[in-house]
Amino acid sequence: MDFDSSYSLTVGGKARSGSDELAVVNPATGRVFATCPAAGAAELDAAVAAARAAFPAWRSVSFEARAACIARLADAIKENVEPLARLLTQEQGKPLLQAREEVGRAGTLSIGMTQIRIEPEVLVDDAQRHIELHYVPLGVVAVITPWNAPINLAIGPMTSALYTGNCIVLKPSPFTPLCTLRIGELMRDIFPPGVVNVLAGGDELGALMSAHPGIDKISFTGSVATGKKVMASASGSLKRVTLELGGNDAAIVLEDVDVAEVAKKVFFAATVNSGQVCMAIKRVYVHEKIYDAFCTALAAEARSAKLGSGLEATTVLGPIQNQRQYERVRGFIDDIRKGPGRILAGAEQPSGEGYFVAPLVVAEPGESSRIVVEEQFGPVIPVMKFRDVDDALRRANDTRFGLSGSVWGKDVARATSIAAQLEVGTAWVNQHRATLATVPFGGAKESGLGRTYSIIGLRGNMEARVVSVLKS
Ligand code: NAD
Repeated sequence: MDFDSSYSLTVGGKARSGSDELAVVNPATGRVFATCPAAGAAELDAAVAAARAAFPAWRSVSFEARAACIARLADAIKENVEPLARLLTQEQGKPLLQAREEVGRAGTLSIGMTQIRIEPEVLVDDAQRHIELHYVPLGVVAVITPWNAPINLAIGPMTSALYTGNCIVLKPSPFTPLCTLRIGELMRDIFPPGVVNVLAGGDELGALMSAHPGIDKISFTGSVATGKKVMASASGSLKRVTLELGGNDAAIVLEDVDVAEVAKKVFFAATVNSGQVCMAIKRVYVHEKIYDAFCTALAAEARSAKLGSGLEATTVLGPIQNQRQYERVRGFIDDIRKGPGRILAGAEQPSGEGYFVAPLVVAEPGESSRIVVEEQFGPVIPVMKFRDVDDALRRANDTRFGLSGSVWGKDVARATSIAAQLEVGTAWVNQHRATLATVPFGGAKESGLGRTYSIIGLRGNMEARVVSVLKS
């Protein structure tokens, strides 16, 4: 069953219309399939005022009571997995199976974070003094999300902020506003009015949020370039920021792997959601002893992956989410054609309706080529050869990105010691793209600032307050 086709903003616990409208395109067809309201400055001011008004009561609610609200939200999402997943596939493009997984994880992640306790810490307790460290909510947190995983990337920052006693104003990408607006509707009966406000809107609304004096923190997920703008604009009122930005994850494949098995896993981690994942594998470094065999196996995976509308059961790769990104990915492919690399799969690209890109594997495109240096955010996989591990590590770390990376090898101790030298927020061994509610996730270098999930992510929504008592 699908939802009905009307959408509204959520402000102060109620439906609100916008001052403008967004047309939402289904990337499998390239045509508009829905419209929704868009907020401007007036709706933002109303949402911030509602959030500020709700804050004094919400901050006083116990962690347990806040966790209970979040559990009810998780139940509401669970009851709506199918319509949310279908809507997600229509607005985002990903195959239905991946959409169901994203919706399902929203519940697990949010509940997972509410299992974490935040207690005052006693720092000093001696004859003279008793000093405690308390953590208190910041106030109003703005959550700004991108279009590649709109539900997943809203749920983490949103539930972290709410569980720790903050009120929120949530803004999805203008390319994928619909699921987020629906989740806002589901939250109206669960949270006190004003605690949760959801506004769809364009990039200019995001800019207004980062500059708004009534907002205390920005939890931003998106590109490095926009993250820098958010940080600059947040500095006006010294807002706190958590920035979850782009990546250019390397996978280092050692000579002792089972080639067929690891090629399959690397292919999946590079092309899930058509490569539009911050922590997708974006560069593959393979030991020279297995290089040719690995390239052949990866190319075979690429040739057998079925491309199509995400609503079709057999689809493995859906379309690129929007025309701008489609043109960008096609630009990478044009550059690859002009460069020294050998295209092993994906030389033929589809034409016709929808933003489809067939998975492309390119061998040795050149270490300074755009496909190696930049974040492609599409199903285009560059595969480079290495002889010694120090060289592979140097090349993997030779980037301003630092989100995550992985090392693949049968000798787990050796692979682990290599992985620990990756300059990233998360280094995986024999896996990629695995996150948990209790484990911090975020970027080193220009891939971000701060962490989501875990006690570190929760404390990112709080101020540390020292309470120091002189004993008589
Ligand atoms: P984007 O930066 O263009 O947009 C992200 C959000 O920011 C959107 O809601 C947009 O409307 C808003 N925005 C745009 N300009 C703004 C401004 N000046 N001030 C405030 N907000 C503004 O990113 P995108 O193209 O939607 O997403 C793709 C990028 O996101 C990729 O680089 C990807 O790697 C990254 N990403 C990172 C993570 C992570 O956890 N590290 C997760 C997913 C995606």
